[in-house]
Amino acid sequence: MTNKVKQDWKTLIVNTGLTMLQEGLTVGTWGNVSARDPETNLIYITPSGMDYQKIQADDIVVLDSSMRIIDGDRFPSVEKALHVKVYNARPDVNAVIHTHPLYSSVLGVNRMDLPGISEDFVQIVGDKMICSEYALPGTIELAQNVVNGLGERNGVLLPNHGTVVIGKDMPTALTTCHVVEKTAHIFIMAKSIGAPSLISMEDIQAMQEMARNNYGRPKD
Ligand code: 13P
Ligand code: ZN
Repeated sequence: MTNKVKQDWKTLIVNTGLTMLQEGLTVGTWGNVSARDPETNLIYITPSGMDYQKIQADDIVVLDSSMRIIDGDRFPSVEKALHVKVYNARPDVNAVIHTHPLYSSVLGVNRMDLPGISEDFVQIVGDKMICSEYALPGTIELAQNVVNGLGERNGVLLPNHGTVVIGKDMPTALTTCHVVEKTAHIFIMAKSIGAPSLISMEDIQAMQEMARNNYGRPKD
């Protein structure tokens, strides 16, 4: 094991997997979580097909940016290529969460995009969330479709599968998972009783600007 590998990053992955399961963002052993340490560029990822309630820090697999295993005895997630490709495409991203949630998956089954309908969503995800092209799980095609579907946004829907949500760090990515699932729920309910109104591109840009510059800033 190289000394660049850090125990607290493994713990972060263990805790996030557990949170994701307990908060209903995924079911069973599906979904996967990774984080990139910006100091070393190493990627910490969940093992494949393991119960989140049983995963320990030692089960976390550490990869480099070429997908080589640096540390860990388990098989890494079958979606390792997806995670690594996202990091390589998006230097601003240090956390990737793949979930199998309820409402976002409904949209994926219908091959529908999730439009910008909520203030929190447009600030943290982007103007909309695209439903990517279909590919089988664990394939390079799926990984490429995710990168294409994300573009500059922080989330993408996977048809007949789930979501991929990304962030500058793990707390941001986890919050984004909740916002995405809540927005998908709102959209489905709004569509069932009427015609959801979308936020204009001008207002989306104004809110994104506000989120970048002012929101959460300490008081002067
Ligand atoms: P892993 O358990 O290998 O991470 O796979 C779960 C999954 O959701 C595949 O898409
Ligand atoms: Zn999956």
